[in-house]
Amino acid sequence: MDFKPANNIQDLQYFGEFGGVNPSISDSSTYTFLEAKTMFDTFEGNTDGCYLYSRHTSPSNLYLGEALAAMEGTETANVAGSGMGAITPTILQICGAGDHIVSSRTIYGGTYAFLKNFTPRMGIETSFVNITKLDIVEAAINKNTKMIYCETVSNPLLEVADIKGLSALAKKYDLQLVVDNTFSPLSISPAQLGADVVIHSLTKFINGSSDTMGGVVCASADFINSQKSVIDGASMLLGSSMDSLRSSSILKNMRTLHIRMKQHSKNATYLAEKFEADGLKTVYPGLKSHPSHEIFKSIMNKEYGYGGMLTIDAGSLEKANALMELMQERNLGYLAVSLGFYKTLFSAPSTSTSSEIPEDEQVEMGLTDGLIRFSIGLDNDIERTYEMMKTCMLEVDVLKEKVLA
Ligand code: PLP
Repeated sequence: MDFKPANNIQDLQYFGEFGGVNPSISDSSTYTFLEAKTMFDTFEGNTDGCYLYSRHTSPSNLYLGEALAAMEGTETANVAGSGMGAITPTILQICGAGDHIVSSRTIYGGTYAFLKNFTPRMGIETSFVNITKLDIVEAAINKNTKMIYCETVSNPLLEVADIKGLSALAKKYDLQLVVDNTFSPLSISPAQLGADVVIHSLTKFINGSSDTMGGVVCASADFINSQKSVIDGASMLLGSSMDSLRSSSILKNMRTLHIRMKQHSKNATYLAEKFEADGLKTVYPGLKSHPSHEIFKSIMNKEYGYGGMLTIDAGSLEKANALMELMQERNLGYLAVSLGFYKTLFSAPSTSTSSEIPEDEQVEMGLTDGLIRFSIGLDNDIERTYEMMKTCMLEVDVLKEKVLA
């Protein structure tokens, strides 16, 4: 595949209004109009290049949206105040009372909770399925289905969606394929594979410094305009807008995304191979043992690798907790949720980011108590990190037990 997301970002050129090398930050919530008629026309959606009010959009938000649309190769994009602030108005823009969604069963806990507990209140039903099995996905589609929802690489099990296959199904049944690409920016470009809408939590790798929340919806101009409509647009009316100061800082961080993703992938590959060789149950899409390794390989933009996320099974929640506490004590990373930071982050999803998923469903999908999710950092000396992690694993008996098993 010859899609070059980082080149597309780099080829954009912005100047500040005084010739600054960074665009000026639009530090205003509202905008003046020279003529009253232009204000009316703008509210009617008939004037290009005029700004109404920053909940609708702002110059800084448009710059960031442009960079993200270039990255995903979509017509346009709309940024939001958080990943959930991008996901929820997308679902509600596409679906209403009586509609049905086919969703992957392994998705971020917040999205799962929204679909499972919140949208039924609005008459929207969701079937949760194993997204890696196209026949199961197809069997779940009914006459009310409007959307297939998945994550490219799922949180936390790192299942990989066959986006081309899902897109063929979506086209066959006239559905929207909505893909959350938070775990695999640059590595996979879902819109190029047939996704209609691509979402990111910018809070993670794209911003990369764990200092802000953010989200984006990348899609056709028609879809984004419908979400921003002052009459019935879910983004405009639910109000999860991003602040311009934040969008300008995320845009600056995006310039190093390609370098960071390569380093995250390189470090995660090194650790995953070592952990697996040590006998730990390790899940990483870059490992040949990963059930969807070949699919990832066939759809990836090769130079960015298989991403920074991996999981290991420590055997029990007690051991997982002991290991994470010790690794934090030795400054190997932080016991924290979230991902995409320069430092390694680790957490046990069954009791944190996926705790919204009932226990029996966790068991069914293979989410064990001892699972530790790692977002591998940008460590310069990953060999040293590995040696130190291995020492921790031996000290809390995670490794010994697995080696002997
Ligand atoms: N999508 C994925 C895959 C996530 O992991 C998360 C958060 O952890 C979200 C969406 C939600 O993003 P945010 O926390 O920015 O609202």
